[in-house]
Amino acid sequence: MPAMPLTDSLGRPLSSLRVSVTDRCNIRCRYCMPEDEYVWLPRGSILTFEEIDRLVGVFALLGVSKIRLTGGEPLLRQQLDHLIALLSARPGIRDLALTTNGILLSRVAEPLKRAGLHRVTVSLDTLRPDRFRSFTRSGRHAEVLAGIDAAGAAGFPSVKVNTVVIRGFNDDEMVDLLEFGRARGAEVRFIEYMDVGGATQWNAADVVSRREMLAALERHYGPIRALPESQMSSAPAERFALPDGTTFGIIASTTEPFCRSCDRGRLTADGTFFLCLYAARGVDLRDLARSGAADDAIAARLQDVWRARADRGAEERAAAPERGALYQIASLRADPHREMHTRGG
Ligand code: SAM
Repeated sequence: MPAMPLTDSLGRPLSSLRVSVTDRCNIRCRYCMPEDEYVWLPRGSILTFEEIDRLVGVFALLGVSKIRLTGGEPLLRQQLDHLIALLSARPGIRDLALTTNGILLSRVAEPLKRAGLHRVTVSLDTLRPDRFRSFTRSGRHAEVLAGIDAAGAAGFPSVKVNTVVIRGFNDDEMVDLLEFGRARGAEVRFIEYMDVGGATQWNAADVVSRREMLAALERHYGPIRALPESQMSSAPAERFALPDGTTFGIIASTTEPFCRSCDRGRLTADGTFFLCLYAARGVDLRDLARSGAADDAIAARLQDVWRARADRGAEERAAAPERGALYQIASLRADPHREMHTRGG
């Protein structure tokens, strides 16, 4: 921990960092990358593993102890285990996690575990290969399922499954997905459909709220118990238990945003630091790092921007009178940093 805990203008610490290692993805989920063409970050701007490790070291000095590698699809980055080995050797990092679509996971689960990765979350929105194909434009559903099994076999203590619930697409599969997770000892987290950059087809009517999710699960299982959270918790998922004790989570960022406990920053693959998933602009750390700035100078810049942070993006979106897609495609093309797959989900 830093000598003086760093907090923003609303008293929120900086303790968690999502690191996007690539903006590329090997599937095209309709809620994230529905377009045919994308503007990618220039290759020369992508941080090397050494550059990411250095920046994570500076963030750790300021109090970051939790790192989640994401993207894009992080497993598209070759030899990701090398980055994991670097980060897991950093003394301040006590939680090192990965979010993946799982397609490439069965090949690398073991090396990632050996390199020091603590936790894996796999995104899985449907158990039906035909739905998966129509939703992601990919026929690799069986590889995702194999990836989840491989993560369990590699000895990850907690494999989680992330499911974005969308009305008329997969809201009839919540019970099946819970049963799938239960059979594998994997906790399922249902995510409300969010109007993030990239979700150009977002529509309020397609959002299944936490309340509706709980009602549907209670109709099937009986009374559901909310599990107590520690008061200081900043985890986005609220956790619940079925009558038989099976636990699951709901991330209600759309209808019940939790900005006041948000301790997360986001670093894109090209070294842009975002204070909020919805922030209009980020702070360029790549040029600073590449221009020869010392770690102290980077830390000082980060301290300044975090202290001034007042972002409450999800709450502001929830309060918007007429809520539609956050960005149209032309504005995403004009600045790909607005994309969820660039910012890191
Ligand atoms: N490719 C990796 C994966 O699929 O998990 C990591 C990146 S992906 C952007 C991270 C998470 O963001 C996934 O669980 C995905 O379902 C979620 N996500 C993307 N767009 C979303 C949206 N519009 N609403 C809610 N969650 C979304």
